[in-house]
Amino acid sequence: MNFCSTRNRDLRVTSAQAILQGLSEDGGLFLPTQLPAFSAQQIEEMAGQDYRQVAATVLGAFLPDYTADEIVGFVNDAYGKQFTAADVAPVKAIQPGVYSLELWHGPTCAFKDFALQMLPRLLPAAAKKCGSDKTVAILVATSGDTGKAALEGFADVEGTRICVFYPHGGTSEMQRLQMVTQTGGNVNVFAVKGNFDDTQNGVKAIFTDTSVAKELEDRGVMLSSANSINWGRLAPQIAYYYWAYAQLLKQGKIKMGDKINFSVPTGNFGDILAGYLAKKSGLPVDKLICASNENNVLTDFLKTGVYDRNRKFHLTDSPSMDILISSNLERLLYMITDGNDIVVRNWMEQLKKTGKYDVGPNVLAKLKEEGFVGYWCNDERTEITVHDTWFAKGYLCDTHTGVAVDALEQYTKETGDQTPCVVVSTASPFKFAPAILPAMDLDFQGTDFQMLEAMEIVSCMPAPKALTGLKNKEVRFDKVIEKDAMKQEVLDWLK
Ligand SMILES: *Cc1c(COP(=O)(O)O)cnc(C)c1O
Repeated sequence: MNFCSTRNRDLRVTSAQAILQGLSEDGGLFLPTQLPAFSAQQIEEMAGQDYRQVAATVLGAFLPDYTADEIVGFVNDAYGKQFTAADVAPVKAIQPGVYSLELWHGPTCAFKDFALQMLPRLLPAAAKKCGSDKTVAILVATSGDTGKAALEGFADVEGTRICVFYPHGGTSEMQRLQMVTQTGGNVNVFAVKGNFDDTQNGVKAIFTDTSVAKELEDRGVMLSSANSINWGRLAPQIAYYYWAYAQLLKQGKIKMGDKINFSVPTGNFGDILAGYLAKKSGLPVDKLICASNENNVLTDFLKTGVYDRNRKFHLTDSPSMDILISSNLERLLYMITDGNDIVVRNWMEQLKKTGKYDVGPNVLAKLKEEGFVGYWCNDERTEITVHDTWFAKGYLCDTHTGVAVDALEQYTKETGDQTPCVVVSTASPFKFAPAILPAMDLDFQGTDFQMLEAMEIVSCMPAPKALTGLKNKEVRFDKVIEKDAMKQEVLDWLK
């Protein structure tokens, strides 16, 4: 299996090169030129397997440069004891026909662990396969979840170093504490005076600065990225769609071949695209419900075919979905147009120049044909949904998952579709206690740790130790820097 760029279909790289490079030189994203295909028999067999076995089968097919032994070893390490649920990703019924795929039992309590426990294993191996002996320095700009998941994954991984920038005052207190208390000899964390866009622009400027690249080359260092444009982050996410289907088979909720729907809380479009790749490689999936918060650029796009980021940016209670440029949509557009790299490149150029592009009625019809539908809800609606899901169904979900539950409810009301649906649950409710407590009808003021305790009492569930344990951890990184100082800090750190 080869990989090409969404902006140049004739370009060819291996999966190892795609992972090491992250982004294609032409600015495009890497995609396999041909997808693997899983048979009904293979999927049925997954019902008798544990998460690690399913992940090894799926990942192996999407990463052909790695040997079966390598993949099995990586999977066993990545989805080991650091996941607190015995079955790694439990599938629970919220109500008949609606299920929650809980992806937040990993070390940082959000679904990004599924990819970021795997990428630090794939990346050094990719470097070796490509004959590179350079130290790989990962730079991350984060609004919260990605930074911590990447730190946790790359801490003390040989041949790598990782530096995270977060907006000063722009994350939740829990998210900040998770990052500034990170242990490991190869990690570094900075607060940047500015917002998330400033930190992201700062990181991009370092990536594209040729003098930085030259300087680092002399020191035997190359820069790489740990965000979801990297194929090594996307591929591990395909596995849990197969896993969810297999669990419903195992639980007797569906028969082999029955189609199911997924509702996915969406930001950068990485998670839902992994669902589409599962569908295109043989998983019986009908609808992919793209759930957005008030930053509803994707909802509008899936209704009209016009992608327009020229709108107000909202800070919401589901901050990991506060995004107006969904990078991985580019991969979907390439697939939907049967690899029309020229038209994809044009749309992306228009997006850069004008913040807007229109894919026209034919592509829009194709998106619908392929099962994509979009819905959104605001914070008030999210709170009501979390409230009702808790009080009427006894299931506690976080705000991001709440958005996906609400999107599913809107879809069901509009269409009457009774197809079984899996809601992809992306974060622990304990990670967002200040927004969840009011949804549980609790008017509570206090520190973030007191909120965790209050939530434990009213939910009768233990808070993850990864969060409660932060209280006694030493703060290792307290530097607040100007945004203009990011480049110099990186160069000093990599001395
Ligand atoms: C990152 C994130 C999302 C959005 O996922 P994308 O792959 O960016 O679409 C949703 N929920 C949570 C909790 C996240 O951390």
